[in-house]
Amino acid sequence: MGGLPIRDDLRDERPYGAPQLAVPVVLNVNENPYPPPEALVADAAAAVADVTRGLNRYPDREATQLRADLARYLERESGVTVETRQVWAANGSNEIMQQILQAFGGPGRVAMSFSPTYSMYPEYARNTNTGYVAVPRGDDFSIDRDAALEAIATHRPSVILLASPNNPTGTALDLDLISELSAATDGIVVVDEAYAEFRRAGTESAATLVASHPRLVVTRTMSKAFAFAGARVGYAVAQIPVIDALRIVRLPYHLSAVTQVVARVALAHVDQLQANVATLRTDRDALAEWLLWNGFEAPPSDANFILFGRFADRHAVWQGLVDRGVLVREVGPEGWLRVSVGRPEEIAAFKAALLEVVRALGDGDRSAMGPVDGRVAPGEVDAEVAAHGPTDGVAPAGEAEGEASVEVVGTKLQALRPEEPADTVLDPPATDESTADTVLEPPSALEEADHGGDDPEDRAAAHDDAVAMAVLRDQAESAADRMTDRIMDEERH
Ligand SMILES: *Cc1c(COP(=O)(O)O)cnc(C)c1O
Repeated sequence: MGGLPIRDDLRDERPYGAPQLAVPVVLNVNENPYPPPEALVADAAAAVADVTRGLNRYPDREATQLRADLARYLERESGVTVETRQVWAANGSNEIMQQILQAFGGPGRVAMSFSPTYSMYPEYARNTNTGYVAVPRGDDFSIDRDAALEAIATHRPSVILLASPNNPTGTALDLDLISELSAATDGIVVVDEAYAEFRRAGTESAATLVASHPRLVVTRTMSKAFAFAGARVGYAVAQIPVIDALRIVRLPYHLSAVTQVVARVALAHVDQLQANVATLRTDRDALAEWLLWNGFEAPPSDANFILFGRFADRHAVWQGLVDRGVLVREVGPEGWLRVSVGRPEEIAAFKAALLEVVRALGDGDRSAMGPVDGRVAPGEVDAEVAAHGPTDGVAPAGEAEGEASVEVVGTKLQALRPEEPADTVLDPPATDESTADTVLEPPSALEEADHGGDDPEDRAAAHDDAVAMAVLRDQAESAADRMTDRIMDEERH
C-alpha cells in the first residue's frame, strides 16, 4: 500500500481470515456442518422473492420485526424475557461488537479481554482507535478473578469483552464471576455468547443478568447454532440505553431487507435447527472423550469445537491433517490446535487422520521437529511415542509470551503405544461389557488414569512415554524457536 495515505497504524496490517482451503473435511471455522433444512430453504426462497418486489425501497432501519422474533427466541432459549427495544441486530455479532467499540471505545480508551480469546477483539479495538489490553487466563483457561480485578483497576477499561463459551478454548464463564467483574468496572461488559446454544446442561446464559446489570451486553449470533453463517446475522441483548447508543453509530439501513427476512424464516424453523444442535453437543462430548482416551489434552468445551494438543510442533500436525484432507485451525497458545465438531463421517476422518499424523511424526526422527516444508510420508510408522507435547506439565516453547496452558489431563499414552496398528481409530470403551476386553483399558482404568492412575504398570508405561517425550520436546523446542515468528503470525489469523 506504498503511497496510499492509509492510517499509520494500519500500514503493516493484513486482512483477517482463516485459510479457506478446498479440502474434503473443513473443521476450521466452527461452522455448523448441517446445511439449513429444505423446508427452510423453500420458505426463504419464497420470502426473498416477496421482499425483492420491494427492494426499490430502503429496509426497516430498526429491523423491528426481526428484533421481536429474536426476543421471542431468546425467551424460549434462555428463559429470559426482554422487550424488542432491548434487542439489537446487525450483520453478524462481529458488526455488533464493532458498533459497541464505536459507541463506547475510541481514542484514549481501553478495551480489555482475557487471552487466549477471539482473535477479532484486538481488530475491533484497532479499527475504532481503542487501546487493547489482554489479560492472560489461568492454566485451565479460566479467568483468574484477582488478576482480572487488578487489571480492571489498573487499566480502567471502557469495554470488557468476555467470550463465554470462549473461543478457542471452549471454556464457559461462571455468572458470579461476570457479575463480580461488572461490579468492578464503570465500563460496558460484553459477554460474547456466539456458542451459547452448545453449552452443556447446567451452564447458564449471561442473558439472565441483563435485567440487573445496566452496562452488560450479551451478544449472540445466528452463524453457529442456526447454521446461518452465510446470512450474517448477529444480535445483542441489553438494557434500552445501551441499545440506543448502538443505534447512534450504526450505518443507516445497515441490515438489508433480504437479511432481515431470511433471518426471520430461520427463526421460524428453530425446532429443526435445534435438533442438529443437540446432535453436535452429543458428538462434541464424544469427541472430547475420544481425544482424552487417546492421550491428548482437551479442555472441557461448551462450544461446537474442541481445543486439543499439546504438540511439540503443532504446525506439522496441522499440515499432516491438511495433507490427509482435514482442515483444522492453528490457533490459540503454542502447542494447541482447534477442531470444529463436524458430521459423524467428518469426525471419523479427523480421528483417523490425527492418529496417523501423530504416529508418523512421533517416529523419533526429525519429521516432527525440523522446519516444516510439507508432508510427512505416511508409512514412516515406527512410533516409540506420539509427537504430542509434554505430559509432565512443563510448558512447551512459546508459552513464555504470556499464553496460558492447561494442566495435564491424565496420562493415557498407552492408547498410542506402537503395538497398535497405525490406522486403527481407538474409541473409548463401549459400555457394553462384551467388548470390554478388546479395548486397551476397561472403563474403570480410564477413570483412574484421569486422576493419576492406580495401576503401577500403567503408571510405569506412562512414565516411560513421558520421559521419551520430554527428550523429543527438547529437540522440538529449538526448532520451535526458529519457527516462532511464522507461527505467531499464523496464530493471529
Ligand atoms: C464465530 C464467532 C462469532 C460470530 O461472528 P458472526 O459475526 O456473528 O459470524 C462471535 N464471537 C466469537 C467468539 C466467535 O467465535
